[in-house]
Amino acid sequence: MLRAGVDLGGTKIQVAIVDKLNRVLGTDRRPTPTVGTPDGVTDTIASSVKAAVVNAGVDLEDLVGVGVGGPGQIDAKAGTLSNAGNLPGWMVTYPLAAELSDRLGGVPVELGNDVQVGVNAEVRLGAGREYTSLIGVFCGTGVGGGVVINNELWIGRGAAGEIGHMKVMAKDGAPCGCGRFGCMEAYAGRAAMELQARKWHKKGKKTQLFKIMKKKGKPRLASGVWDKALKENDKMAHKLIDRAVWALGAGIASAVNLTDVQAVIIGGGLGIRLGQPFVDDIRDAMMPSLIKPQDPPVVLLAELGDMGGALGAALLVEQYIKPVATTAGAKKVAKKAPARRPVNQTAAKTSAAVARQPAPVPVTAAKKAATRKAAAKKTTTARTTAAAKRAPAKKAAAGTTAAKKAPARKTAAKRAPAKKTAAKKAPAKKAAASPTTAARIAEAARVLTTRS
Ligand SMILES: [Zn+2]
Repeated sequence: MLRAGVDLGGTKIQVAIVDKLNRVLGTDRRPTPTVGTPDGVTDTIASSVKAAVVNAGVDLEDLVGVGVGGPGQIDAKAGTLSNAGNLPGWMVTYPLAAELSDRLGGVPVELGNDVQVGVNAEVRLGAGREYTSLIGVFCGTGVGGGVVINNELWIGRGAAGEIGHMKVMAKDGAPCGCGRFGCMEAYAGRAAMELQARKWHKKGKKTQLFKIMKKKGKPRLASGVWDKALKENDKMAHKLIDRAVWALGAGIASAVNLTDVQAVIIGGGLGIRLGQPFVDDIRDAMMPSLIKPQDPPVVLLAELGDMGGALGAALLVEQYIKPVATTAGAKKVAKKAPARRPVNQTAAKTSAAVARQPAPVPVTAAKKAATRKAAAKKTTTARTTAAAKRAPAKKAAAGTTAAKKAPARKTAAKRAPAKKTAAKKAPAKKAAASPTTAARIAEAARVLTTRS
């Protein structure tokens, strides 16, 4: 049972061919056309899927389905994608599922929201696989999110998870892409950050951001540009990222106060590029707004990197299409498949799956219960460890230096692949932000409130 997953983004199309254990057999990646029509983009997706199939050493007929995670408004039932502003000529309703299926010899195509499939991938296969409740926050051009409660992606009436549009500034907020003001995304979305950088730059404030952008040959302030500017100690880049961290801290903490989830996963292009230090700063920034700072959720970096979208899209197929007898193709490739970690199959059904047909969950209730029990046990251990760790941390709090903080982070990062130790999960860091981070966040808040 081979599936293709397509991550359809504004800048790139990433395809992965996976087997029934979600092991990646082949991939293809190419730029998304910046001009043209939905037909043209669909041609490119089809070519990319075919290339990935060849890359995997299988045949198109071996695919039981293709999942596409896309931006804009998805109607999974109708198979349409509408109003995708980041895709050329796509401010229309386009029957992507049928059109792509036609170009791929009739293989079924399923559509899903890009952020929701990304969160689902992290829940099923990535950083969230040991948790039953979590919030995924994906920082990219905008800030998307997904809420998982009791292993199910909460979609509400279809539009849940819009964490980017939680209000973090009630008065005189920055303008958001949604047309409102003061949303988290207006401070932490790459598009909004770029807008602010251009404004300041125009007013004569110095920055290397745009020089780095040109040097890298990018038309926008891509995640890599921000990363480089931070490393070069660009003042404006630091100011804007600190502002983003402040907004993310406030917004995510509010979401946690409402849901009391076990974990928060930070992903998206910017999140992945800035990595663990960014995640640590967000966790620090959350603390002042948490109603229960002594028992915060675990804050983790997404694990699947930029393959998360494609893997999540491939999961869409599993949820719609009943497993069929293993094809010759699957057998053929099974041997050479690279070993990946086993899949936690206790996870979420997505929106449309619920609406259409129950997911074929190949796990027994007993196994599910056992997993939950194990998770609960781990949480307890984590809390104990955290409590033990907190005591000495408090003592040192006043004089904590960034240098002192650094080794802790390094350890956490080192431990990341294992991820099973209680210490990693535990909020090992003290509840209060270090003076450095706290000062930076305060500065960011001050900038925000004094901004005209
Ligand atoms: Zn908004």
